[in-house]
Amino acid sequence: MDRRQFTLSTLGLAASLAIQRPALAQSAGYRGPNVILVRFGGGVRRAETIDEATTWAPYLRHTLAPRGTFIPDLRIDRLEGVNTSHAEGTLNLLTGRYLAYRELPGVGDQLEPTAPTLFEYLRRAFDIPSHQVLLVNGEDRPQEEFFTFGAGDHFGVEYRSEMLSLHRYKLYRTAMQLAEGRLPEDELRKVQEERQTLLTKDPRGATPDPSPQVTAFWERWRQDFGDTGFKNPRGDRLLTELSVRAMAELQPRFLMVNYQDPDYVHWGNPSHYTRAIAIIDEGLQRLVSAADANPFYRDNTIFVITPDCGRDANPLAEVPFQHHFNSRSAHETWAVIFGPGIGKGVIDRPVDQSAIAPTIAAAMGFSADRAEGDALDGLFL
Ligand SMILES: [Zn+2]
Repeated sequence: MDRRQFTLSTLGLAASLAIQRPALAQSAGYRGPNVILVRFGGGVRRAETIDEATTWAPYLRHTLAPRGTFIPDLRIDRLEGVNTSHAEGTLNLLTGRYLAYRELPGVGDQLEPTAPTLFEYLRRAFDIPSHQVLLVNGEDRPQEEFFTFGAGDHFGVEYRSEMLSLHRYKLYRTAMQLAEGRLPEDELRKVQEERQTLLTKDPRGATPDPSPQVTAFWERWRQDFGDTGFKNPRGDRLLTELSVRAMAELQPRFLMVNYQDPDYVHWGNPSHYTRAIAIIDEGLQRLVSAADANPFYRDNTIFVITPDCGRDANPLAEVPFQHHFNSRSAHETWAVIFGPGIGKGVIDRPVDQSAIAPTIAAAMGFSADRAEGDALDGLFL
């Protein structure tokens, strides 16, 4: 069966599945391992990440890869219409399908999934509250605020993840500042305008309201970092800070961290790219240390670390690290998976990117019915 036939038959199957969706209350409690999915993102090449001699991520390559299963040859399939880019690659990881997205109506180039995401599968299968299924996003990527649930005939907002990002914090802060009314009138007007701009960027994301637990998370964040935006870490260090605090305060069962800063190389400076890879590597050290030190996560957490997409490797191009030209290298990624129940070793054959979602599903004990790929063979002990 080729992929297109497979797509059609799974769509038919999905239509019948949609009718039998169980109510949340009937779902069983979750007892499986926690999963932390780290998008080593913004698009990275193998050369600067997993190549032993030239890596800028030594902790990933020399400490984490030997801790579990290392897949040096993960590939984005060369299907017609597949774009090797950030939102697309991230949705491949979350749905286990290619091209399972559409542009959000009325907003332009923002994508929303049209097949169930791992968040939705997980919350449909198990009674896990929304604040324990989390997506941590970059501060200037409101286009990735739509991945918490998808559109179409599948599970939807009832099974969404919650989102932690600076964008979300600003929504919280502006709402509080307006409700408190303590600022002088001209400053209040500015806050009102700021809030309006935030809501325009992300018309769907503001509803439903965050859970009381996530609201309390922001309340503590505001106490520590204030209203100015000058005190909190920025860029991918901010994502690490949000993630480590979330692990301590919200105990997510499934956490996805969407690192992104290597992508600044689009503007031409290769040292921004390699520096950003090193910062993600430091972030990985903090995340893994936090998990190893916390009884909720220690010996009960599987890490899956994988890029959204590769980048070009054309030494003749003015900026040799783009990723929009469908080059072979832009399709080449990798994955590192470790934790309880995961074997140690190297998978020395090509693995398709669509295997990641069904593999996470298998590790957590549900089925990603509409994924195109299969769970990785031989990964589990
Ligand atoms: Zn990019």
